[in-house]
Amino acid sequence: AAEARNVVVDFHGHKAVNGVDLELARGEVVALIGPSGSGKSTLLRTFNHLQEPTSGEILIDGKPTTGSSRIDLLALRRKVGMCFQSFNLFPHLTALENIELAQVHALGRSRKEASARGRELLKRVGLETKADHKPASCSGGQQQRIAIARALALDPEVMLFDEPTSALDPELGVEVLNVMRELAESGMTMMVATHEMHFAEDVADRVIFMADGQILESGAPSVVLRAPQHERTQKFLQAVI
Ligand code: ATP
Ligand code: MG
Repeated sequence: AAEARNVVVDFHGHKAVNGVDLELARGEVVALIGPSGSGKSTLLRTFNHLQEPTSGEILIDGKPTTGSSRIDLLALRRKVGMCFQSFNLFPHLTALENIELAQVHALGRSRKEASARGRELLKRVGLETKADHKPASCSGGQQQRIAIARALALDPEVMLFDEPTSALDPELGVEVLNVMRELAESGMTMMVATHEMHFAEDVADRVIFMADGQILESGAPSVVLRAPQHERTQKFLQAVI
């Protein structure tokens, strides 16, 4: 569904991503782990061109996203949804309005359609009673679930998550992880940068360990997390588990 080919991101001579090849199959759930500064966020952001690769390319459904035949940026952002550590909801809009907005602007849906879809998604993330609440009156976990509903409203083919629970207290993080687990079970293609090793172990089809902008190890959770081959992976896991 989505593919990085030899992607490099160079920040003033520092290669935050240093030649990454990675193919996400349709319906696959990949957990991206690795130390702080290893390039997880930067790599994720190249997939919807929030970060332009210095070289290499990103393909969606086999189509290049740069060069002459590029699919346009709006279409790309629709296909590849993203949720961040900070929820980035509009504070002056209600939960439902936050979810409606992009549907109207990016997909040209009518307000009525957008509203119906918004309510359906709020229900799916367990927040139908929060439709008319503003973000400030919702907990962090609720805000993140609203942000997930907002991303899903554009019917993405791939969802990227960048440490979606790391700003949350553990008990609030669980609500978010449960929504993500259901999303994974529903067949969504997902790539999740996370420090939640339980989530990686239980939900991911594949775990990728990054260090210094490169993929050092990639495989089934039971292998990468339980019997890592690379010394860097072993050290990292000893420190976090
Ligand atoms: P964390 O676990 O802390 O979120 P990460 O694996 O997501 O770390 P990145 O945020 O991708 O790491 O950062 C990778 C490297 O690129 C770091 O050395 C970081 O300082 C650098 N970097 C990230 N964004 C920029 C930027 N916009 N300009 C310059 N350097 C950057
Ligand atoms: Mg990061």
